[in-house]
Amino acid sequence: MATILADRPFDLAVVGAGICGLAHALAAARLGKRVVVIDRDAQANGASVRNFGFITVTGQEEDECWRRALRSRDIWVEIAEAAGIPILQRGLLTIARRASARAVIEEFLATPMGHGCKLVEPAALDGYGEGLRTDAIAGALYSPHEIRIESRTAIPRLAAFLAERHGVTFLRETVVHAALPPRLDTSRGRIEAEKIVVCPGDDFNTLHPDRIAAYGLTRCKLHMMRVRAERFDPRLPALMSDLGMVRYLGYAAQPAARALRRELEAEQGAHLANGVHLIVVRSADGSLVVGDSHHYADTPDPFAPSTVDDLILDEYGQVLQGPPPAVVERWIGTYASAPDRLMLIDRPGDDLRIVLITSGTGASTSFAIAEEVIAELYG
Ligand SMILES: Cc1cc2nc3c(=O)[nH]c(=O)nc-3n(C[C@H](O)[C@H](O)[C@H](O)COP(=O)(O)OP(=O)(O)OC[C@H]3O[C@@H](n4cnc5c(N)ncnc54)[C@H](O)[C@@H]3O)c2cc1C
Repeated sequence: MATILADRPFDLAVVGAGICGLAHALAAARLGKRVVVIDRDAQANGASVRNFGFITVTGQEEDECWRRALRSRDIWVEIAEAAGIPILQRGLLTIARRASARAVIEEFLATPMGHGCKLVEPAALDGYGEGLRTDAIAGALYSPHEIRIESRTAIPRLAAFLAERHGVTFLRETVVHAALPPRLDTSRGRIEAEKIVVCPGDDFNTLHPDRIAAYGLTRCKLHMMRVRAERFDPRLPALMSDLGMVRYLGYAAQPAARALRRELEAEQGAHLANGVHLIVVRSADGSLVVGDSHHYADTPDPFAPSTVDDLILDEYGQVLQGPPPAVVERWIGTYASAPDRLMLIDRPGDDLRIVLITSGTGASTSFAIAEEVIAELYG
């Protein structure tokens, strides 16, 4: 196999141009390393452009994940302007429809993660924007930590920023068949690089399948929609609700979440069975991205039954006033999922790392994870 790009000796090759791979390219480029990023697709097409672009801090699992989310949020803010990535929303309102959900918020606020957050009484919610069903709300948690970016444009802009400002080389429409430092065998030829980080998203079978198999991973399929809601107040921050409080581990670990779950099982069993919870974020054109659901399979089917979307829109209607919004776009996304961890860093050798985000947290945590991986790789 002929070696390509032989005139450019790379310190680091990154496989995968999703957020995980780009975050590693950024961390290494900031250390002055010569980096090549290789991806099989012509443009980003995986979870990284299908997500909400919601950089979530509050609600992430206590300690490591929460700390990584804060750090990653800071990096998004640091690079946003230079990379031409607008920050479209700031903050989060987690709406408690039930007294038991409000109790979860109260317990959460007493933890260190509650720093900077506050409980908002229903009568004060209009101060954050109008249109919430305040008559059916028991309170809300306001968090100032979150930001929202539009992933489908932000990821290409981040890649362009890495190429233009940091001299990162991108090799697209190129499949990596083997990655063992100091070389990678690709569909275009051999590439030499001192160190390699593999960020394959939810492809467990192409590179180092034996190493990845040891983690017992599966995949999660999510339903997403873009809607037009004429009367959505642009002042509102991102929204979540009770169903999210039993999914997001920062809330779900609170003792009061047990009672909330029992109520949800009795009253919203179909939502729970389909892994439905509510996230509503706003785009620059005023449309909203609304989701999502969670169905697990080794190979998720590509079908998106409307009954699942109806459950998501039902929860939307419990939180927001007005007629059902018009759905203008639907898509599904998949991500890697592990039974026991939110992410993994596998170390097959001194100069090789395999990094997978095994939960729905990659947009929120990849920058911090990559900083740690690159710092360790380069001592
Ligand atoms: C619908 C949905 C909503 C989500 N919402 C959020 C959210 O709001 N906030 C949040 O923090 N996270 C969210 N997530 C999770 C987040 O999007 C993922 O954790 C993250 O995008 C994973 O990034 P990645 O780079 O690992 O994977 P991907 O984006 O899938 O990228 C992997 C890349 O690797 C390439 N690749 C793999 N193998 C090879 C090979 N052998 N050769 C060449 N190329 C290869 C693929 O082509 C792909 O481009 C959501 C996910 C989904 C699906």
